[in-house]
Amino acid sequence: MSKSLISQKASSFGESVIRGMSRVAAAHQAVNLAQGFPDFPADPRIKQAAVDAIQKDVNQYAITWGAKNLRNAIVAKEKRFRGKELDPEKEITVCCGATEGMMAALLAVIDPGDEAIIFQPFYENYGPDTILSGASPRYVTLYPPTSDSTDWSFKEDELAAAFNPKTKVIVINTPHNPTGKIFRQKELEFIAGLCQKWDVLAVTDEIYEHILYDGEKHISLATLPGMKERTITVNGASKTFSVTGWRVGYILAPEKLTQAIRKVHDFLTVGAAAPLQEAIAFAMGLPDDFYFHLAAEYQKKRDFLLKGLRESGFSVFKTWGAYYLIAKIPESGFKSDYDYSVHLVKEAGVATVPISSFYLNEPSSGMIRFCYAKKEETLSKAIEKLKSYRKVSV
Ligand code: PLP
Repeated sequence: MSKSLISQKASSFGESVIRGMSRVAAAHQAVNLAQGFPDFPADPRIKQAAVDAIQKDVNQYAITWGAKNLRNAIVAKEKRFRGKELDPEKEITVCCGATEGMMAALLAVIDPGDEAIIFQPFYENYGPDTILSGASPRYVTLYPPTSDSTDWSFKEDELAAAFNPKTKVIVINTPHNPTGKIFRQKELEFIAGLCQKWDVLAVTDEIYEHILYDGEKHISLATLPGMKERTITVNGASKTFSVTGWRVGYILAPEKLTQAIRKVHDFLTVGAAAPLQEAIAFAMGLPDDFYFHLAAEYQKKRDFLLKGLRESGFSVFKTWGAYYLIAKIPESGFKSDYDYSVHLVKEAGVATVPISSFYLNEPSSGMIRFCYAKKEETLSKAIEKLKSYRKVSV
C-alpha cells in the first residue's frame, strides 16, 4: 500500500502565482511589475546602520521575541504615528517579516473548526495561512469602485452574515493589496462592532501604513475603542524602508496573546536577523520627512503609471494606498486572466499578476495587477512596451 508522501495541507494550495510570474518575467527578460518589491536602492543611512551592526559584532541570536532596541523603537514609532501606548516587554514580537507574523498569529489562536473571515480579493498568502493554521475560511466580497472617486467596498449585511459562533478571527489588510483600498473609520467601526458582538479577534496587516496618497490618513484598528484587547497587528519593515529581502516584521498584541505568539514564533524561526533588527531600530527613528518623502514619491509613481496605463488603453481603478494598480483586461479571447498575464509577458514584455490569484475560486477575474514600486525608468519602459503592444502611438 503506498502512502501519500505529501500532506493534505501542502497539497491543498498551489505555488504563489506572484512569485511564479516573477520567474516567467525573468525567463522572458520582461519588465517585472508583478511582485511587490522596489527596484530602487534603500536609504543609505539604513544600509549603513546594518553594516555598522555587523561590524560591531551583533551577529548572534537576538532574544527570540526581538532585540530590545527594536522593540523600544517600535514603541516610540507607534506612539509617534498612532498614539498607542505599548509595553515592549509584553506586547511585541519581532519576527521574520509580516509573512511570518500572520502565520505565527493564526497558529497561536486558531483551533480546528474555527472560522476565519477574509475579504476577497485577498493578499495571496492568507489562503495558505488559513489552511496551514487549520482555520475554515469564510470569504466576504470587496466590490470594485463604481467611479474614480469611490473605493473598493464591502456590503455590511454580507459581512454581518459571515459572523457566527464559530468565527475566531477576521483578517483585515489596510491599505489593501491588491486593491489599494483604505479601510475608512466608518468601515472599521462596523467591523469593530461585529468583533465585539461575536467575541472575535481581528488580525490586521498594516504593512502599507505609511504608503497613502492625497492626504489620506491610516487608521490602525487597535486604536478604536474596545479593540486593543482583541486586535493582533501585523507589520514589518519591507515596504516602509524598501528592504523586502531583510525579512524583519513585528506583531503587536495584548500580553496573553503575545505569550502564545512568542512561543509559536520561537519554534518557527527563533528570530529575525540580529544586525538587521538594529538597522530597522535606527530606521524607525528617522525624522518625519523620511515618511513624507516615501508617500510623496509613491504618489508620483502612482500618477505616472495610472496615466501611462490609461494612455495605453487600459481602464484602471484609482487607488489611495499601497503600491499597486488594477486594470481591466482590454482584450477578449483569453481563457483566463492568467493566460492574459502570460501573453503580456511574452508579447508586450511586461509582467503583471492575474487578479484571480487573489481569489479562492475565480478562474478569470478579467483584471490584472501592476506594481509601481519601481524606478521611473522602469515604469517608463513598461509603459512604452505596453503602448507599442497596444499599438498606441508613443
Ligand atoms: N502583507 C501584505 C499585504 C503584502 O502585500 C506583503 C508583500 O507584498 C506582505 C505582507 C509581506 O510582507 P513581509 O515582506 O514583511 O513578509
